[in-house]
Amino acid sequence: MPDRSIDRRSFLQMVGLGGTALGVGLTAPHVIAETARGVIVESESEYGPLPVEKLTDGTFPYECDPEVLRAMKESANVFSRNVYDPVRRASLETQEDMSHVHLVENKGKTPNQTRLDWAFMSAAWKWAGSREAYLWEGGGGMMGGGSSALMNMGHWDPADIDMTWEEASLAVRHASLFYGASLVGVAELNRLWLYADHHSPSAEDRARAIPVLDEGDRFEKTDDAWYIPSSMNRVIALAFEEDYYGIANSPGRLASAATGDGYSRMALTASTIAAFLRALGYRALPAGNGVGLSIPMAVDAGLGQVGRMGLLMTPKYGPRVRIAKVITDMPLVPTAPIDFGVTEFCEVCMLCADDCPSGTVTKGPRTWEGPSRSNNPGTLKWFAEPEKCYDFNGFSCSNCKRVCPFNKPNNSWLHRMIRQGIEGRIKTADRAMVGLDQASGYGQQLEAREFWSMDGEKSITAREKM
Ligand code: SF4
Ligand code: SF4
Repeated sequence: MPDRSIDRRSFLQMVGLGGTALGVGLTAPHVIAETARGVIVESESEYGPLPVEKLTDGTFPYECDPEVLRAMKESANVFSRNVYDPVRRASLETQEDMSHVHLVENKGKTPNQTRLDWAFMSAAWKWAGSREAYLWEGGGGMMGGGSSALMNMGHWDPADIDMTWEEASLAVRHASLFYGASLVGVAELNRLWLYADHHSPSAEDRARAIPVLDEGDRFEKTDDAWYIPSSMNRVIALAFEEDYYGIANSPGRLASAATGDGYSRMALTASTIAAFLRALGYRALPAGNGVGLSIPMAVDAGLGQVGRMGLLMTPKYGPRVRIAKVITDMPLVPTAPIDFGVTEFCEVCMLCADDCPSGTVTKGPRTWEGPSRSNNPGTLKWFAEPEKCYDFNGFSCSNCKRVCPFNKPNNSWLHRMIRQGIEGRIKTADRAMVGLDQASGYGQQLEAREFWSMDGEKSITAREKM
């Protein structure tokens, strides 16, 4: 028999823990330079073509006012208000009615609104609201019995197999990519990003919200409160790429299909990662938009920064992502936050504000508070007005993402500009370059008919050249 055994170092190298990676793995970043706050690195697998500054000195790429910043109430966000706030409900119902009337009256023939487009969109959302998703307990499938046995074995200790916690944390990040995430990072959980209350749209009393409490070691949800203990002090932040051509159809049903597909994958992947952590003996709370604010958690975990449109901007996909998270007591090693010049770029760019049909995205400077009841004051940023977005049929619009230069694959001028900015050679984005890109055709709406007749490589290449 040939000897097929391999030593540990060779194995770690094979699975990417030793600096190289296979398939969906993470490659070790290439360090370009040191800075006062950390290091400038490149890593195609994590950051795509853009260099980023990893903030290893404990700072974050945003400013907070501790006197003002408080945990936001879920009942104050626009999703919840759409359920119980009579003004919001009236607005949303009118909009839904209008969409469906439009579909029926035109027998599904209107361009970008055909029955084919609607069916495609509807199916993409299938798993987004699955009752099996985001459960607070439960193991894996198929091997259910084995899963219970695993969960009853106490905490897994990586030292048992001669692994450090750093290597174990990388293994969990690899598993997250394997289960379907496009990007993954880990942060120490800032409890200010957890919601202060929980609002259930299905509750009989639609305005009723219950508090989220930290009481000893209690981890459970009851009818009167949710209990999340402070021992659950890590968050695994997950980003899911939305289809480039679907978003390019915005405002249209294919853009909503790209969004729905992101939500469906969020539910499957976050719940699967939670089952994995439980099988290792740890607590895990998977969540999509619920439980807490996904964007600051993702920023803390090094997935990106917040841009003018108020969304997470990642170096690899720009704003074209959806976010989920898993909160756990597994002592994972955090990944560093990053800065790749988004704030400076957005100060000049303004494209999302120019192309927002509802006036949701501000053209003004960053502020400490926003104009809406659904904004949470205490962070210096561009506040959006989410009500306006919804009122412009927000489920099919992603114009802001479509036009953003960070959304564009293989954007060579942006790559050069970010590199020069991050290395301190220029201070801001070049507005002329942004305009030139638009003039060349990038960011225009892709008609649904064009999407359906795309000729594989030919069409994709043509559009990417825009
Ligand atoms: S989705 Fe559309 S309406 Fe909403 S902020 Fe973006 S561009 Fe504006
Ligand atoms: S479109 Fe321009 S201003 Fe808006 S988020 Fe993207 S880079 Fe920033």
